Amino acid sequence: MLTATSPVIVHKRVVAAAAIELADCHPRTSGLGAVEDYVRAVAEFLGCRFDVRTMHGVGGRAGPSDHPDGLAVDFMVDPDTGDDLASCALDNIEDLAVKYVIWEQRINHGDEWEPMEDRGGITVNHFDHVHISFESDAPEDVSIEDLCS
Ligand SMILES: [Zn+2]
Repeated sequence: MLTATSPVIVHKRVVAAAAIELADCHPRTSGLGAVEDYVRAVAEFLGCRFDVRTMHGVGGRAGPSDHPDGLAVDFMVDPDTGDDLASCALDNIEDLAVKYVIWEQRINHGDEWEPMEDRGGITVNHFDHVHISFESDAPEDVSIEDLCS
């Protein structure tokens, strides 16, 4: 029999279950390198939330990039996962300290997707990974565990 308080209890259980799931998740972060601490925290959160196996952080890239400064992460994903991960990052752009997202040859600073030039390949055009550049300041102290659930 349902009571007036049932929906609240169910909701709390769902949230608790999601939190436990995230706490038990240990994504492979060895590819991140010496990224900023908050960048690592966000990368781990997104890696868990979207079951991303491979992430690349600090490293050389052709052309100007936020990667050498530890302020960018590449999430290797399939197309559906990439759509969801990019949406999550943009929906929570301030909480996650996201500067911009690049996905499927488009860039988004938080407003709308803008087309990018054809760089001549799946990877350089960001069809096999979501690139996220982060702000150089850590986000306000926010709880990110429940975002995008
Ligand atoms: Zn990148």
